[in-house]
Amino acid sequence: MRRPIVAGNWKMHGTRADNARLIEELLAGHPGRAAAECLVFPPFVYLQDVARLLREAPIGLGAQSVCAEAQGAFTGEVSAAMLKDVGCSHVLVGHSERRWLYHEDDPLVARKFAAAQAKSLVPILCVGEHLEERESGRTEQVVARQLDVVLDLCGVGALESAVIAYEPIWAIGTGRTATPQQAQAVHAFIRERIAERDAKIAEATRVLYGGSVKASNAAELFAQPDVDGGLVGGASLNAEEFLAILAACGSR
Ligand code: PEP
Repeated sequence: MRRPIVAGNWKMHGTRADNARLIEELLAGHPGRAAAECLVFPPFVYLQDVARLLREAPIGLGAQSVCAEAQGAFTGEVSAAMLKDVGCSHVLVGHSERRWLYHEDDPLVARKFAAAQAKSLVPILCVGEHLEERESGRTEQVVARQLDVVLDLCGVGALESAVIAYEPIWAIGTGRTATPQQAQAVHAFIRERIAERDAKIAEATRVLYGGSVKASNAAELFAQPDVDGGLVGGASLNAEEFLAILAACGSR
């Protein structure tokens, strides 16, 4: 049985005061022993603050990216050890905004995945296609390539302590959500692709959907058999909305 996850990617939003308010509201409304695992991903500079606010709360903490190198002269970068040191348990790797705005290619994403696991952080590997790739029938080819590069470097066993997020780029921050059927088809494909290497690991791997998830569409997305929760951007900045998504996930 795969325990679902709802993860909130705050991107480059918020202030210390906004974060304190958001966490306070989340803690007030969090059902405690919710069936779904709940995670938040604040900007780097606020991680330590948010870690303190969360204390023993049933909400985990992750970072939005990580350096592929362990330490050294890498100005502006943040290492996996540093993330661990300030209380992170998870980290996003290969988010489409990193891939396309900051030119992070598949091999770099794979090295970031490995760097995270080397420090016992759970990487959430984001994969997904552009609209023109979908429209030209290349969704599976793109997703397979993004996945295979990581599996080739780290081995399929690495998925035992990792999560995958399928995030069609055309659905991120656009208000345009994949239909539950579109999401399910790609999630099933991802699971089949992993099963070609190890069926047991494929069955156990959690695959989240991301792309304009809202309280109003979460339940039908999470009802799909291979959708194990969501990676939520915009809607994670609103406590009421995020808690409703968490509830939709916990009740599936
Ligand atoms: C994301 O940032 O991963 C994301 C899915 O964003 P949004 O929910 O805003 O589309």
